[in-house]
Amino acid sequence: MTDAPDPIDRDGLRRDYWKTVPMAKMTKPEWEALCDGCGKCCLNKLEDEETGEVVLTRVACRLLDDASCRCSQYPIRHQFVPECIVLTPKTIMDNLYWLPQTCAYRLVHEGRDLFDWHPLKTGSAETVHAAGVSVRGLTVPEFEVDEDDWEDHLIEEPI
Ligand code: SF4
Ligand code: SF4
Repeated sequence: MTDAPDPIDRDGLRRDYWKTVPMAKMTKPEWEALCDGCGKCCLNKLEDEETGEVVLTRVACRLLDDASCRCSQYPIRHQFVPECIVLTPKTIMDNLYWLPQTCAYRLVHEGRDLFDWHPLKTGSAETVHAAGVSVRGLTVPEFEVDEDDWEDHLIEEPI
């Protein structure tokens, strides 16, 4: 079977740049290529008001494509989901509390290496799915689940 094309352009990037280049110094393509395509940041989350703990649910943003684990309207997503967060070197600190444990932005921010299944290491966008750490086939659309019932769809990380 031929791998599906990677929607993220990972060509022409500096070798192992995530280990050597500070996040604030990465080029835009290098920053975008950090994303492993797991889709977990597009799941709705529940936050414990007392402890601040955040848990993921299987209930996905209305724009998430469950098969590709990608946003179906990424360039114009804010027209439909104004609250969708734009992760940048400046905003990452404010978002660490909810970023998934395997998220490459969290790992690199913490000075850790990427996992061996990351597309930057394997050269294939499929390896995140083969490793079982993406949300492919796991989600339910948010328009099918009442918000009061999200707690029935909790998932434990890492998936
Ligand atoms: S959780 Fe992180 S690595 Fe996974 S899709 Fe979201 S931004 Fe990309
Ligand atoms: S709008 Fe797109 S990028 Fe933002 S959470 Fe929804 S699916 Fe993900």
